[in-house]
Amino acid sequence: MSGSDRGKYLFRIARLVQERARELAVAESLNNGKPIKESRDLDIPLVAAWFFYYAGWADKLDYAGLGANPKALGVAGQIIPWNFPLLMLAWKIAPALAAGNTVVLKPAETTPLTALLFAEILQQADLPPGVVNIVTGAGATGQALVRHPDVDKIAFTGSTAVGREIARATAGTGKRLTLELGGKAANIVFDDAPIDQAIEGVVNGIFFNQGHVCCAGSRLLVQENVHDDVVERLKQRLSTLRLGDPLDKNTDIGAINSAEQLARIQELTAAGEEEGATRWSPACEIPANGFWFAPTIFTGVQSSSRIAREEIFGPVLSILTFRTPQEAIAKANNTPYGLSAGIWSDKGSRILAVADGLKAGVVWSNTFNRFDPASPFGGYKESGYGREGGKQGLSAYLAPSGGAK
Ligand code: NAD
Repeated sequence: MSGSDRGKYLFRIARLVQERARELAVAESLNNGKPIKESRDLDIPLVAAWFFYYAGWADKLDYAGLGANPKALGVAGQIIPWNFPLLMLAWKIAPALAAGNTVVLKPAETTPLTALLFAEILQQADLPPGVVNIVTGAGATGQALVRHPDVDKIAFTGSTAVGREIARATAGTGKRLTLELGGKAANIVFDDAPIDQAIEGVVNGIFFNQGHVCCAGSRLLVQENVHDDVVERLKQRLSTLRLGDPLDKNTDIGAINSAEQLARIQELTAAGEEEGATRWSPACEIPANGFWFAPTIFTGVQSSSRIAREEIFGPVLSILTFRTPQEAIAKANNTPYGLSAGIWSDKGSRILAVADGLKAGVVWSNTFNRFDPASPFGGYKESGYGREGGKQGLSAYLAPSGGAK
């Protein structure tokens, strides 16, 4: 199919997502437990934005950075997690189709609902049968996809442990691989930061989507002289958050996705207390049924403790202090991950110097958790390799003309 025809399908899919936005937002909140205001205002609009963006690329592959007439890889096997079910699907399917590949995508076992609704949208868009195949299932289904000899590329988003297993299974097979794995991002607040804005950014950074975000600002590094003030303001702000029914449009913190995830958050927060950090949560009513976790902050956290190093993937913020920019950089980099980071300061030169020292794929300044389809996203170290979004995300589904796949 020509690039311009592929582009037409992608535009059509983007428009259908917009037309069915309300239905998709409700389904996504039921699927995942996230607050409806997030699925309505962020997830679904970003899904449409991703398809619009890559629709524009479909007939311009010569500009993808691989020379003239780059070729599609073939069959892309895509495996995604449960935290942004439809958005992760869009990040994977849109560039794969723009580049001319076919797709077999496996949603996470707890969140197949919107992927199946999306399959309906593809039928509505008259996409030829077989171009995109949604296969539900658990880890074993993912393994089958990874091992299948006719799959040319694997794009995986999920935990570092499974990412490692996939890297081993694909080694020496000639399959292309991109891995988007976990994170333990530092949100660094300097004493000259616009403080109200920083508090909002720190809260959004970790409590957005119940903290089930790979790039969540799960470590707050705050300059020592403003620590007490920042913690006090954070507590005040957290006391205003509403936890409860994800379908209520006033809800800020929705449900935890599964019993397993809740158990992991409980285990790590218990470890935080055992290791001597001080735990605080606002008074909030926890609904009787379902999986819930109150927003939680830990102060007095040591760099070596589990809650400073391991990904909790829940609404839990670990607070550490620093004195100098050098110390902030060293502490921010003191993790096996390297996905994202945030810097809050009034000084442009300081922001640039600190960003330069951070080993993180994405660095936000005076904002956090901002996504745009034109911006490549991905990590260093145990956060994986390869980039999604932008031209880089497109070239991950292409090979140079005449070159090896
Ligand atoms: P997970 O690794 O358990 O599962 C992810 C997907 O892989 C699921 O679809 C699962 O069924 C499948 N899977 C499980 N075992 C498999 C195997 N052996 N072979 C092939 N597929 C297998 O991760 P999760 O708990 O669903 O997701 C949370 C993790 O995802 C977190 O660590 C988070 O940081 C990460 N994440 C990363 C990004 C990113 O862009 N870097 C984005 C979102 C989530």
